[in-house]
Amino acid sequence: MNKKITVLPGDGIGPEIVAEAVKVLDKIAKKYGHSFEYTYVDIGGCSIDKYGVPITDEGMALCKSADSVLLGAVGGPKWDSCPANIRPEKALLAVRKELGLFANLRPTKLFSQLADASPLKKEIVGGGIDLLIVRELTGGVYFGERKTEEVNGELVAVDYMPYSEHEIERIGRVAFETAMKRGKRLASVDKANVLDTSRLWRKTMHRLSEEYPQVEYSDILVDNTAMQLIKNPTQFDVLVTENMFGDILSDEASMLTGSIGMMPSASLSSGTLGMYEPIHGSAPDIAGMNIANPLGTILSAAMMLRYSFDMAKEADDIEAAVNKVLDAGYRTCDIMKDGCTKVLCDQMGELVIANI
Ligand code: NAD
Repeated sequence: MNKKITVLPGDGIGPEIVAEAVKVLDKIAKKYGHSFEYTYVDIGGCSIDKYGVPITDEGMALCKSADSVLLGAVGGPKWDSCPANIRPEKALLAVRKELGLFANLRPTKLFSQLADASPLKKEIVGGGIDLLIVRELTGGVYFGERKTEEVNGELVAVDYMPYSEHEIERIGRVAFETAMKRGKRLASVDKANVLDTSRLWRKTMHRLSEEYPQVEYSDILVDNTAMQLIKNPTQFDVLVTENMFGDILSDEASMLTGSIGMMPSASLSSGTLGMYEPIHGSAPDIAGMNIANPLGTILSAAMMLRYSFDMAKEADDIEAAVNKVLDAGYRTCDIMKDGCTKVLCDQMGELVIANI
């Protein structure tokens, strides 16, 4: 298969970790007879420095015309004082919007080799955490109308949280389809005891659940979900939720693994085009030192193969290689512990390649 990938290395450690993911994709291409064609585009602070904007129109067009997009990370203190409309993060929101990326998939996997890194007790994570949050990404309160006005002599702020049936249905379908490919259990997270948007959410999810009788479906309130993620995280397979709840819960869930450098993510559209990136930022404190953990980006590349290119075997191959490298005791400094071998960012990439 021939695939066009637009690569957005970005700022800070972005170029270092993306280089390792691209090397891994090249190894997969060689092994399975595919051809991946890369086009590099500046995004974030480096684009502001060169062109005065966080992403150019040409760069955006290259994202839209690709089969998939691989992102490192954007931002850093150098651009913190930029005016709001040209901050590095603006480019990410723009790409999500332009590409129609309405579904954010964030797996939370506690690799058994890294169980010590979890802030939770061993008896709680014993069975291993392996859950996936499907977050609606382009609707709800982050995109609703907002205003601040003076009422009776004081300021009053309002943020609207609109959701239409079709927005709920399309994210619901992604969640049910994803559950079908995993453990066939789906919990839909809402606040239906209070919010109208949540009641419509629940009604729509119930209707969809009739189309997926193989999936064990349940509703759970968002406050209870926040507790259950700490009390009993191994009970979950797939969780689906709206934009703001998903933002908060996916950060909470990622912390259960204690290793931000390991976590991949995918943002999907209604077609096969998606954007794949690690969940962490540009880590300016370690940029240019070749010590960043590239595994979150490498696992994001695996998600690209699985979700955009329908290459499940190839994705499994990368994930198995990461497991083997961890089993052999190799660690970048963020996940280093006694008795293991410390490796640099590019050495970690090479080790994964050697195990594919
Ligand atoms: P961060 O995720 O960049 O870093 C937090 C801590 O985790 C740092 O100590 C860093 O060294 C460490 N870390 C992160 N990724 C690592 C990796 N792969 N290997 C080893 N250690 C790693 O968060 P921050 O410091 O709050 O943000 C830095 C910049 O990144 C800011 O400008 C922020 O706006 C931006 N940011 C970008 C994205 C994105 O591009 N998607 C996401 C979050 C933050």
